[in-house]
Order: sequence, then structure tokens, then C-alpha cells
Amino acid sequence: MRPVADPPDRSSDNPGDHAGAIEIDGRSLSRADLDAAAAALAERIAGAPAVAVRATASLETVVAVLAGLVAGVPVVPLPPDAGPRERDHILGDSGATLLLDPDPDPDPEHGAARWNGVAAEIVRIDVDARSSARFAVPPPDAIALILYTSGTTGAPKGVLVPHTAIAADVDALADAWAWTSEDVLVHGLPLFHVHGLVLGVLGALRTGSRLVHTGRPTPTRYAQAAAEAGGTLFFGVPTVWGRIAEDPDSARALAGARLLVSGSAPLPVPVFERLAELTGHRPVERYGMTETLITVSTRADGERVPGTVGVPVAGVATRLVDDHGRPVPHDGTSVGELQVSGRTLSDGYLNRPDADSASFTADGWFRTGDVATIAPDGTHRIVGRASTDLIKSGGYRIGAGEVEGALLAHPGVREAAVIGAPHADLGQEVVAYVVADAGVEAAELTDFVAGTLSVHKRPRRVVLMTELPRNAMGKVQKTLLG
Ligand code: ATP
Ligand code: MG
Repeated sequence: MRPVADPPDRSSDNPGDHAGAIEIDGRSLSRADLDAAAAALAERIAGAPAVAVRATASLETVVAVLAGLVAGVPVVPLPPDAGPRERDHILGDSGATLLLDPDPDPDPEHGAARWNGVAAEIVRIDVDARSSARFAVPPPDAIALILYTSGTTGAPKGVLVPHTAIAADVDALADAWAWTSEDVLVHGLPLFHVHGLVLGVLGALRTGSRLVHTGRPTPTRYAQAAAEAGGTLFFGVPTVWGRIAEDPDSARALAGARLLVSGSAPLPVPVFERLAELTGHRPVERYGMTETLITVSTRADGERVPGTVGVPVAGVATRLVDDHGRPVPHDGTSVGELQVSGRTLSDGYLNRPDADSASFTADGWFRTGDVATIAPDGTHRIVGRASTDLIKSGGYRIGAGEVEGALLAHPGVREAAVIGAPHADLGQEVVAYVVADAGVEAAELTDFVAGTLSVHKRPRRVVLMTELPRNAMGKVQKTLLG
């Protein structure tokens, strides 16, 4: 298998001068310079058990990750704004002995405070260093990354991601989306998470496409990247797409793109439809998680149905099971827990034998913890997380997403999160948290959804909020509601 860090094969196509170049927030490095800077850092870190990287959205982060990959040292991306607790959890748990920092001490006081009490040795990342040192290719099953989950449902868990899973992941996407070195990938996602880092950076490096990272993912910057860099492939999380859908001029600037891709959380149907109307492109949706990288995605040549996330990517199989582990039919309506097996699967969790045994079935399938339906043609619809999105009320099983969809269909509703709150008689009752335009009343929304939802699915309470609690990936933190 071709290692992730290998230079792309440029012999068979004509991608132009920028192939494989990475540009972040206006600074850029050619693929050759990127490799030479990474080789210089790789010499410094070779032999370390693991290295942490303060993963700002910067060329430095890309160089540091690539250095780890070529040196065969597992890389642990650290959210740049991690508080001391999260920082110490990740550093202590991962056993990283070196901490690579793009900018360790901008001013002595601030720099010292950032790493107060940290045992790891701090190393500056220098993107101007160059080396032509060569390294033995790490064994394909070696651990490339230790990626921490988003912590939506509990403390972030360290996921052991082997080189093979990254390669399988990117190759599966290249197949599903016809992603080649002629594409120009645009995104502005964080570089400490699977979406922005594995798909967004390692995907560009492996396919040889040029990457333009916008820094902050604002509608204006996406529009600018379309106009000035000729972006063909745009990645975003639903909050990014939601903002673009509300900014018609920026959205229209994406008309010349090839694919608009949404992932990491459900893309609300109204956002899908508005984007399609403004850009002329029906978005491609994909579903995955830190533990399985990509699982399913709409194919570029497949049907793009709002509210669905497509079919399993190459090398991945999925199945649905009920609470007793029995198969659930793939009939498009029966809901079950989604389980995954295949080449994009990680090697399990670091230091968490409890999570490992809870997450893998006896026959080796990974329990995603998400509930879904699968249609006879293989199209997946993600209902939500078994822990927070499958509401059990009065003997009914209600998908929070269906209720959220009914609320979002109201023109005055901007965001909706539905949970099952404890209830003495029903077990759980349906409660909706809604961000709406001024003047929209809770009672009006209750009446509105009565037009589409059967009685047991209707929220018994609607709570108006100014914003929903979200994490860095834009995921609603439902455990903070209620
Ligand atoms: P933690 O595991 O720490 O609680 P997390 O599950 O949010 O956090 P990630 O691995 O970043 O951490 O996210 C994966 C989850 O995101 C999936 O299990 C699923 O619930 C959700 N998700 C990802 N893509 C989609 C999508 N396209 N539609 C709906 N949900 C999605
Ligand atoms: Mg998870």
C-alpha cells in the first residue's frame, strides 16, 4: 500500500503549477518544500514514542503532522485553545514526550503561561527548515495519529489511527468523489479533528490536489477561494454551510465548484435546499467518526437526497442491529444501531479497554453508537446518537432528527435540538430547544409541527434559546441541554 506521506504520482495528469501545494490563510508551501521542511523536523523527532502538536490552522501544523508520518512517530493533534484540563488529559493520556508548537512564545509571559506545568519538551516548528533526509517507510499497520474524539458524549477518547486506515479512507473518497490532483480543495476547518486533518489535509497530500485553507471558514472567504483559487471541492460542517446559505452573494460564488461536501453533523434539509437553489449544486453528504474515519458518503455520480448520507464507501460494510443484537431489515424505515466493519476502521482506543470492549462486537464489528435506517438501495439516513437522539417515550421510539426537521421547516426557525427529558409516566418526554427569529412564539411552533408530526412525536415543551451549545466542530452538545 502506498504510504500517506509519499509524493503523489504526477506522471499521468497535468494538474498545473500548484499541484500538491498547501496554502493557509494567505501563506503557501509547494509540495517539495513541505516535504523538505517535514524531513528537517522528522530528524528532530525520530525515535520519540509520540509527539503532540498544538494544531493551529497553519502551515506549521501541516509540516509537523507530515514530519510525524515520515518519521513513523504517532502524532497527537492538540486543539490550540484547549484549556489546561483538556490539554493535560490529552498530553498525559497519549504519552507524548515532545510538544511541537508553531509559535511557542509569542511574548514570554503568554508563551510561558500556555505551557505551565507541562512535562513534554517544547519544540518550535520551523516551516523554513529544509532537509533531504530519507526515512524508512513505517510499517503500514503502524499508528500514524492518535486523534481525540470531539467529546460530545463524555471525555474525549484517544483513537489509534493506523496508516492503513488513512490510506483506505482517502482512497475511498477519491473513488466516491472522483477526487484527483486536478481538484482544488477549499476548507477552513480545525486541523485537530478527523474532518479537517485527515480528509482535508492528508486527503489533499495523498490525492495531490492543491489545498486552500481559508483560516476562518466564513462565507466571504469561501467565496474568495472560489473566485481567486478556482476551488472545485469545498468541505464544511453544517454550521459553515448554514452561514453560507444565509449569504446569497457568497453562496452564488460557489456555482463554479464541482462538489460541496458536508459532514461531522446532520445537514438540516432547509440548508441543503437553500444551497442547491443558490449554488446550483445539491450538496454531497458524508458520515463518519474519529473511530471509523469515513463510513458512508453520497457518490459524486449518485443521487443526492436531503437528509441522507449515501452509501458505504469502498472497503466498508455496515449493518443494523436491534437492542438484542438481532438484524434489523434494510427497508428504509426500520431503525437500528449502525455497526461498521472494514478498512477505514481504527485500532481502538488508547488506554481505554472499557471503551474497546464496549465498542466492538464479538464478531469484530464496531458499534457506532448512532442509530440509522438503511434503504434497500443502500442509502443511509442517520437518525442520531443512541444515547441522546433516540427518544423512548410512552413505548414509542422517536428519532430526535425527525422532530428537529419538522421544526426547521418553519421559516422562522434557525436551529433546533430535540431531546428526551426524564418523565415519570412516559419514561422520556420530547422537549425541543429552538433558536428562532424575533417574534416567533413557542405556542406557534407547537401548532406548526402538529401539521406534520403524529401526537406522540410532538414536543411537549418548546424552549426558545438565543443559541445552542456547540463544540469546535459545530456539534450540538445535547448533554448540556435539559
Ligand atoms: P465523542 O465520541 O467524544 O462523544 P463525537 O462522537 O462527536 O464525540 P466525532 O468522532 O468527532 O466525535 O463525531 C462522530 C459523530 O458525529 C458520529 O458518531 C455521528 O453522531 C456524528 N456525525 C458525523 N457525521 C454526521 C452526519 N453526516 N450526519 C449526522 N451525524 C453525523
Ligand atoms: Mg463518538
